[in-house]
Amino acid sequence: MGPPVFVAFLNGYTPPWADQVIERLAATLPYPIRRVDLRFDLRPYYAPERRQHHATLLLATLLRHLPEPGGKIVGITCEDLFIPVLTFVFGQSQLDGPAAVVSTYRLHNESYGLPADEELLRARTVKEVVHELGHAFGLVHCRDQRCVMRASTYVEEVDLKDAGFCDTCRTMIAARTA
Ligand SMILES: [Zn+2]
Ligand SMILES: [Zn+2]
Repeated sequence: MGPPVFVAFLNGYTPPWADQVIERLAATLPYPIRRVDLRFDLRPYYAPERRQHHATLLLATLLRHLPEPGGKIVGITCEDLFIPVLTFVFGQSQLDGPAAVVSTYRLHNESYGLPADEELLRARTVKEVVHELGHAFGLVHCRDQRCVMRASTYVEEVDLKDAGFCDTCRTMIAARTA
C-alpha cells in the first residue's frame, strides 16, 4: 500500500452518501483512503461575473493543506467550478500531482431541470473523484468506452462510463504501488 489518499468534503459539505464515496474509493484504489475535515475561505476564488469558483486556485490551496508529504488530497465541493478557458469543469487535477478537486454542482440532475436523484449523484461523484485521482496518479485520458479515465465533458458522458479502471489503467495504477 502506498501513501494515503486524503478525501475532504470541503467546508462542511456532507451529502448523505459521503461514506459510500469513501467505501467505493477504498475498493477501487490500491491506497489507504482517509477522510479529513477541511474548511477554508472560498471567497478569494469566487468570480462574481461568472458566479463560479476558480478551480486552479482552489487546487493550489488544497496543495497547501496536504496532511502528509507523498500523499494525495482530493477536495469535494458543491460549488460550481471553472477554469478560464472553459464554461465549467467537473473537476481538476495536475497530472502526477498531489491534489485534485471535484465539484458536484453539475452532477446534480437539478442542474439540468430534472428531478433530484441522490443515487445517481453519488455514482457520478464517485466516477469524477476516481477520474481526477487517476490523473493525480499519472493516468492520462483513456479511449476505453467504459473506463473511468475516459474524458467526459457532459454529464451524459459521465453516465456512460463505469466507476472503475480498464485493465490497462488498473495495471498502471497498481505498478505505482509496487
Ligand atoms: Zn480528465
Ligand atoms: Zn482505461
